Amino acid sequence: MNQIQSMTDENLRDFITCPYKFYFELIEKKKRSINWRQVVQHVVNKVVFSFYQLPAESRHSVCVLKLIDEYWGKVSPQIFESRIQYYTVVAKITDYLMENIQSESRKSPPLFLFEKLNTYIEELNVDLSLTFDVAEWSDSSFVIKKYLVDGTPEMLALYYHLSIVFSEKVLKRTPKRVEVVTLLDGKRHVFIPTSKDLKEGLKFLQTMKYSIEDSSNYFKTKNVNECNICPFLEECNQTIHEFSPKKYLS
Ligand code: SF4
Repeated sequence: MNQIQSMTDENLRDFITCPYKFYFELIEKKKRSINWRQVVQHVVNKVVFSFYQLPAESRHSVCVLKLIDEYWGKVSPQIFESRIQYYTVVAKITDYLMENIQSESRKSPPLFLFEKLNTYIEELNVDLSLTFDVAEWSDSSFVIKKYLVDGTPEMLALYYHLSIVFSEKVLKRTPKRVEVVTLLDGKRHVFIPTSKDLKEGLKFLQTMKYSIEDSSNYFKTKNVNECNICPFLEECNQTIHEFSPKKYLS
């Protein structure tokens, strides 16, 4: 079995979404078409980034609306499965972003705002990278936040474990909270770390590393929503693949 040298949060997220899709995209380097979820996530990231860059006194709901209007204006309705979906998505993103980000109005600017960090993790023998979307740091508190379009329980677990491992290994500090807001359902997922979470996080990432390295266990996702927007649907249904992760591993 080959050993991987590096892992990014994007690689891990792709692998969790579907190992087959991960293989097509990253290893076979097949065409990667952008789907509506990626486009909406890009808009959300732009809005969040711009909002937190404003002075505290300017961070209010009208600003959120203006920013959504500015960035959503470039999104084509054609990339959605229907017009209804296009309007439903923008309505939910607007409502839940305003509801969740508004409470941030009077706070100091975050320490990290979409900052990519890299580090070598000795226990995993791998270089790991993670983007901290929003991380607020003060003498008494360290809080990590992420705004996602949506997220499965596995995806939420990934962000939680990555956040803990990075905080402990790179910043030498345990977060007080890790918060992930999923904007299509408006839920705020709050994780409160405990002392055993670093060990759990390393175990989780080690398991993911082994899973990526052992291509004989790659499987197809059962999430039909993913398959509906996957550019490899036809290929995936027709072909029996012999996976070889060597190109990614080298
Ligand atoms: S069609 Fe579905 S199972 Fe096949 S690669 Fe795409 S997401 Fe995975």
